[in-house]
Amino acid sequence: MKWPVDITKYPITQKFGERPDIYKRFGLFGHNGIDIGCPTGTTLIAPISGTILETTDNPEGYGLYIKIQNDKEGVVLAHNKKFLVKVGDWVNEGQEVVISGNTGFTTGSHSHFGYYPIPRDRTNGYNGFIDQLPFLNEPLKMTLDDETFKKLVKNSTNWDETVKYLEITTDPKDTSFQQIQDVIAGIRSATTACQNTLTIRDQDLQVAQVEISNRGEELARKENDCQLQVKFLNSQIDSLDKQLKIAQEPQGEMLGQIGVLRGQIDELSKEKGRLLKQIAIQPVIKCNHFADVGKMIAMLFTKLVRK
Ligand SMILES: [Zn+2]
Repeated sequence: MKWPVDITKYPITQKFGERPDIYKRFGLFGHNGIDIGCPTGTTLIAPISGTILETTDNPEGYGLYIKIQNDKEGVVLAHNKKFLVKVGDWVNEGQEVVISGNTGFTTGSHSHFGYYPIPRDRTNGYNGFIDQLPFLNEPLKMTLDDETFKKLVKNSTNWDETVKYLEITTDPKDTSFQQIQDVIAGIRSATTACQNTLTIRDQDLQVAQVEISNRGEELARKENDCQLQVKFLNSQIDSLDKQLKIAQEPQGEMLGQIGVLRGQIDELSKEKGRLLKQIAIQPVIKCNHFADVGKMIAMLFTKLVRK
């Protein structure tokens, strides 16, 4: 007989005969099958070859369930989402028969796998069902208590990564309780190391923030210095501009003076001409006046050159 799913992938969540307190209400001594914790949507295969006797909905108990039976034995697969076969179909062992779900009396997605031999003894306290574990092709060999293992790994989201890192097997069958404790101790010390690193990083961050703040102040200071310097340089440019203007004024003044002097030279040239005419008419008058004009012209030229 085959498991309806790959049993290495999913945990057994309830074994045969467990929880008599709960199953009393159904008139049973305990759980009358094996529960496999597979998620909704898992395709289940026929554990045995046989005819599909039932595809039934029982909302108070099994939910959507199928019953497969041959002349020696029968199987029930319960809490399904969808049937892949119909009543009267013959199925071979290993053929896909249902999609698992969470229908009927459940506390979560799983597959209830029940087994009964023929003739079926409905008075055995389990309505004819028996523990099929010894008849399965792949019997479970648990060295670690199933419940303990589940409790230990339930909240571990990175279990595969953790065990890979710590180099122990992921297989619950071969994992001892001591190994689990070692893993947890490893996780704790890794957590502590992480927290320490985080604290150091935090301190680094604070130092960096102070540095940033200091740099900001320095930058503001430098900016202010720069503005003052620009202001100073602008004022210097202004003052140079003014000096340049003042320097240009005397140049104009001097050009005016030169003009005036040139006018005087012209006047004197004319005077000279008049005097030369007079000399021609009155050669006697070889006056000093003439020499005086010459002196004046010479003096004026000297004055001009000096300027
Ligand atoms: Zn069950």
